[in-house]
Amino acid sequence: MYDSVLTNVRFLEDKNRYSIGMIDGKISVITKENINGIQNYDAEGDFILPAFVEMHTHLDTALTAGDPAFSQSGTLFEGIQIWQERKKLVTEEDVISRATIALRMLIEHGVLHVRAAVDISQPTLDSLKALLKVRESFKDLIDLQIIAFPQDGLISCPENRERLEKALLMGADAASAVPHLETTRENGIASLDYCFSLAKVHQKFVHVFCDEVDDGHSRFIEAVADLTIKYSMEGLVTASHANAMAYYSDAYSQKIFSLINKAKLTIVSCPLISSVTQGRFDSSPKGRGITRVKELHESGVSVCIAHDDIRSPFYPFGNGNILQAAHMASHLAHMTGEKEVLDIIQMITENGAKAFGIASDYGIEEGNSASFITVPADDIMDLFSRQLKSRYVFKNGRLIVSTPPSKSVWYVEQKRNVGD
Ligand SMILES: [Zn+2]
Repeated sequence: MYDSVLTNVRFLEDKNRYSIGMIDGKISVITKENINGIQNYDAEGDFILPAFVEMHTHLDTALTAGDPAFSQSGTLFEGIQIWQERKKLVTEEDVISRATIALRMLIEHGVLHVRAAVDISQPTLDSLKALLKVRESFKDLIDLQIIAFPQDGLISCPENRERLEKALLMGADAASAVPHLETTRENGIASLDYCFSLAKVHQKFVHVFCDEVDDGHSRFIEAVADLTIKYSMEGLVTASHANAMAYYSDAYSQKIFSLINKAKLTIVSCPLISSVTQGRFDSSPKGRGITRVKELHESGVSVCIAHDDIRSPFYPFGNGNILQAAHMASHLAHMTGEKEVLDIIQMITENGAKAFGIASDYGIEEGNSASFITVPADDIMDLFSRQLKSRYVFKNGRLIVSTPPSKSVWYVEQKRNVGD
């Protein structure tokens, strides 16, 4: 007898229906046979997927859109300006309550692994203290990795250097930098070097906000790859955004692709927010806003797609549905073929799991932790088109939230042939 059995699940590239038997929080069996558990759940033909991995979001800014004002220009720079005002009002309680709501939104959409950047440009580090508490209170439900993120820079704001080290000592999982926001190329490089040296000493990940600008001259990604190799941190470094890469020449991009592969960097693209904040200085044609997702993926780079902001000064929309980000990525990256859509699913699952450091226990396999979701859909294109919440979200064999798909009820009958 199993602790729990989930019946009628399908895998993305397999038409058969299976049952999943769970014992002691693990997947004990995957079978086409009829099996029974103490608890039994019917997935009604849903797709089963490992829980989604959100590689880049902000829980400290979440749900502040419109407070004190909505961004009118939509640019990254106005977003930063509004956040400077809002962050003066940040308290631990304020961050805890908003982060809790945002995490629940993410979990309802099947996200159980979240990497969140927390702004440390605050003398009190209240946002960080709040997120450390949130990480503890959610520890049985999700894996939360915290990036210590110096929004105001490490050279432009020298106090942030000490705060970054303090944040790592307090328990942040990754060190960050924003080289493209420093005043000069040299200062940008210096900020990266400082970030890497701290991460190395404290044995943390690096997750840089890199080249988030529509400017082909912003070339910090090469420095990130170079420092990764110099500090022997291959596989431990992620660069978010890399928007400028869209403007690099094809020849220079080829050099960058091989350097990124050599350094085993993970590249995270956030197409919801980038399509809003980027291209704002173009008259026409307007840039699509995202990095070279398709070409990076084809060259062998591990690319992730993330939701990023949820209703913040930088992005006024969002409900934690990472499938919205995946859907937007397929549009902006020109990846709408069936195989390409499957590749994008990989960018919100397996690729994130690798960067998260959980790959060995990740995936729907016998012996792995029973942490997975089911999503109602007829096929992969339907999954992308409807972007429904997960019907079931299981963590270590325990059902933590369920959202049955809604059904429309029609009150009129339609004739078979219009005009009859
Ligand atoms: Zn972000």
